Amino acid sequence: MSAIIYLAFCVLVALFASRRGRSPILWGLFSLLLSPLLAAISIAIMKDLTAAQQMERNSLETDRLKERVAVSEAEIRSRMDHMEHRIDRIAYQKDPSCLPEKGERMVSAKNENTEYCHECGEKTPIGAEFCPHCGAKLHKEAD
Ligand SMILES: [Zn+2]
Repeated sequence: MSAIIYLAFCVLVALFASRRGRSPILWGLFSLLLSPLLAAISIAIMKDLTAAQQMERNSLETDRLKERVAVSEAEIRSRMDHMEHRIDRIAYQKDPSCLPEKGERMVSAKNENTEYCHECGEKTPIGAEFCPHCGAKLHKEAD
């Protein structure tokens, strides 16, 4: 009878060990050969491996999320940039005479050796005759 209780304790210790991220076989044997109480105390004193593993997993997850956020931020920024050019183009088509912002843009664009196409709003290399994006003639000859 007492042997059964002893065995039950060993099984409990094994379960306890596995819940704390330790080997249930090793700790089951440990309690079987020495004492379930000693095994249980040892496991309780030792660091909870599952907590450490959980923390590691959490930090990995956080890193992955941060990466994803950074990627979508870059995507949004490039889309915003594109939209801005499109808005510029629409404004230009509606009223070609109003170009104060455009001039500003031309200056900033010149720093990168590019300017913006008046048709599609995409960046084009300075001095190019045609827009590589839409094929529009970039530098209109005086009429
Ligand atoms: Zn174009």
